[in-house]
This record gives sequence, structure tokens and C-alpha cells, in this order.
Amino acid sequence: MPDCLCRVPCAVQVILWGILMDDILEFFVCDACSNKDFNLVYNFCLRFHGVNFSDDLIYDKIVEERYQCSACKKTFTKKEVEEAMSKIRRKHKRH
Ligand SMILES: [Zn+2]
Repeated sequence: MPDCLCRVPCAVQVILWGILMDDILEFFVCDACSNKDFNLVYNFCLRFHGVNFSDDLIYDKIVEERYQCSACKKTFTKKEVEEAMSKIRRKHKRH
């Protein structure tokens, strides 16, 4: 809210505030149940693989984050959420 010298919100401030409040909020929603709340779920995984100069297996630790719908428990990968968000961005792009 812009600063104004008056103590009581003046008309200009109220109008400006009205414009600012007009923002569009669009949420990523679960495509199964339209819920917008998600919990973060982690998978911890070790991937073992051989290397040609050694008999030992080496491993990589993989931590995967998934987002789980708090209502129907469907999970989404980060990539799926990003893709859905960019679809929303494209929809609101002004031409
Ligand atoms: Zn859901």
C-alpha cells in the first residue's frame, strides 16, 4: 500500500488499494479432485552401478520430492507441477 500523509486512508489510497487487490490468483490444483493443498513427500533412493575399471559398485543417492494432494493422496512430480504452472502462465499472457 503506498504511503500517504493523511492519517485516515484517503480516497486515492483506497482506489489504489482496490486496483492492487484485483490481482488474479490461480492455483495449481489436483487434476483428480481439484484440491489446492499439497504435502511434500520425499523418496530416498540409492542407485548402484558398476564402473568398468573396478569390481566395486558405486552408488548415487537420489532424493526425489513429490507433492501429494492432501485430499485424495494423488502425487505429482515437480516437473508435472512446473508444467501445469507454465500452462497457467501462458493462459494469462497478454497478447
Ligand atoms: Zn486430489
